[in-house]
Amino acid sequence: MSRPVADLVARVEEAVREVSSSLLEPRAGVLAADEVRAKSPGEIVTVADLEAEAELGSRLAALWPGTPVVGEEACARAPCLLGALSSERAWLLDPLDGTTNFVAGRGEWAVMVALLERGLPVASWIWLATRRRMYVAERGQGASRDGLSLRRPPPGRSAAELCGRVLTGFVDPPAAAELAANGRRFARVGPGSRCAGADYPAVAEGDEDFVFYWRTLAWDHAPGALLVEEAGGAVRRLDGARYLPGDAAEGLLVAADETSWEVAREALLGPRSTPAGPSASRGRPGEPPSGAVPARPPLPAAPTGEDQGAA
Ligand SMILES: [Mg+2]
Repeated sequence: MSRPVADLVARVEEAVREVSSSLLEPRAGVLAADEVRAKSPGEIVTVADLEAEAELGSRLAALWPGTPVVGEEACARAPCLLGALSSERAWLLDPLDGTTNFVAGRGEWAVMVALLERGLPVASWIWLATRRRMYVAERGQGASRDGLSLRRPPPGRSAAELCGRVLTGFVDPPAAAELAANGRRFARVGPGSRCAGADYPAVAEGDEDFVFYWRTLAWDHAPGALLVEEAGGAVRRLDGARYLPGDAAEGLLVAADETSWEVAREALLGPRSTPAGPSASRGRPGEPPSGAVPARPPLPAAPTGEDQGAA
């Protein structure tokens, strides 16, 4: 991130806290029935999501006039807005991640913002309001929690020593059953928290060693991916390719470091073949190939409609 932009970090943090305080926190667990509606099969949206996106979006736009703001709820109405992610710069906004938890009064919900430059996240903010924790990451500058540097502790070296979360809500049933069976190779595997803004910090903090996702909507993953990478972790597609929020691929493995990424990947999905093939070079121009092709095709997606818990 260019240095003039770094001056905005504190102002984004302030905007996120204020919108959370005024429009979200007072409504957690107390929304009326007519303030919640279905957005798509298995997904809901509330007046809190919509009002927080409008307010935070306008504040981000004012911070840097001319920079497009790509918000989750606006994209639900007009998916073409995602095209702005490849702009010179763009804000990516999830005003309320974990809406189902929020409505139910559970604590795992977050406000998430990422700043992208030509499609690559360069800064991100995750505010876990109920825990009063603010995670910030700047590419090349590291990750922090509440202003203190955050470095992922070393994980175990074998699958039997690793703990993680496997989200199979959008994976077809046979593949989900295979993942569940393979999950027994680890020390512990659980489902996601239904909030990517809680799952990614769990890896960065050392509470979990890996998380497997199938569906990877940009606003769910861009902020946390940068956080984990800047804390020393690894976030890659299942074929080892670099994760880019606008790439429309499926399948993502988040891990504590490169070694645990490989261990978790093999334990969950089997060995990867070598050498690297064409699908392994989706990184940005000038960067080295990021991995090998999968030993077999990636897991097929289920039709749609089941909440895998990352929304
Ligand atoms: Mg959301």
